[in-house]
Amino acid sequence: MATGARFGRPLPRDNETDAAHTKPQETPGRARMSWTLATEPIGSIPRPAELIAALARTDCEDPALGPLYEAAIRDTLERFEAGGSPVVSDGEQRKYHNFATYPVHGQANTAADGFRIAFADGHSRRMPRLTRGPFSYRRYADSYLEVAMRYAHVPVKQAVISPSALSLMYPPEGIADYPREQFIQDLLREHETEIRRCLQKGAHCVQIDFTEARLAVKLDPSGALLASLVDLNNLALARFSPQERRRIGVHTCPGGDLRSPHSAEVDYADLLPRLFELNAGHFYVALACERDRGRALQVMRKCLKANQRIFIGVTSPIDPRTETAEEVRDLVLQASEHIPAEQLGTTDDCGFAPFSDDTTRSRDLAFAKIGARLRGTQLAAELIAGRA
Ligand SMILES: [Zn+2]
Repeated sequence: MATGARFGRPLPRDNETDAAHTKPQETPGRARMSWTLATEPIGSIPRPAELIAALARTDCEDPALGPLYEAAIRDTLERFEAGGSPVVSDGEQRKYHNFATYPVHGQANTAADGFRIAFADGHSRRMPRLTRGPFSYRRYADSYLEVAMRYAHVPVKQAVISPSALSLMYPPEGIADYPREQFIQDLLREHETEIRRCLQKGAHCVQIDFTEARLAVKLDPSGALLASLVDLNNLALARFSPQERRRIGVHTCPGGDLRSPHSAEVDYADLLPRLFELNAGHFYVALACERDRGRALQVMRKCLKANQRIFIGVTSPIDPRTETAEEVRDLVLQASEHIPAEQLGTTDDCGFAPFSDDTTRSRDLAFAKIGARLRGTQLAAELIAGRA
């Protein structure tokens, strides 16, 4: 289809020279038709049922799972590309067990009873707890990227977990002979290593999942906890050059597990001013699920800095209904009244299965919503280009 052909064109990795990020030209005809808005997924896609079943039977590192992982990754990339996605992910098919704890899953110096993330429907998930030093990653996300890039024909993005999320692993009571300051240094080193490895392998961009940002405001309405998490993440971002930071983004959302958020009630006015203090180039911010999108967009406009691009969520993974392309188009047009088009992009509000065992949403639903995002974004782009 025509939309797919336009979206399917590989884009340059340096966003500064990216045609998709260029302001519409005055020259009529060809320039207008080729202009498009940047659009990217967040990351996760529900795993195939046979992979979920196999993971329930055996360890995630069992070599016997290799063909199942590989098939899931290939199928995910094929479906992304068949729909015309200009930027794809591996769907996090191998991120066990979830978006947050994959780097430390299986580490001997962890216990299961760490920080609890409470969701609105009453269920909860737990972070691992660090039992002794030193802290280190067991795996880096570039191992996923490497496989995805083997099969992909368009740029691949890679999501990594924020250092602030993993900082919750350090117990409040401390660890003998391993002070928190040393833990933070080890954590920052591992996070920096992970991002550098992804950038060096050619990630289109690296997205830092910062889903605990909004949760932090819920847990501490004074904002002090959020401020400390932002400061920690900025310490990590300071290790990168301005050029590298243009390929580094941050994702925020109200959470999305088993169709339930964890912090949807937090007002963006209490979150985004701090969030946009992060020294990153891209921000992937949930919008479709917001009760008052107009207000959310006003807050975004106030907070967004000149050198930052915001990818607004135009589909809601926790909503079982698939958005229409026209609904997406209208939301993008509404956003373009607040945010300059050259600083605007679209995404999904969140991943479709941040936790690997989440079966509340199907792969078909995820790709139907992604299709609506792609078509609606292109419809809006054509209208925006036409009025420029
Ligand atoms: Zn999310």
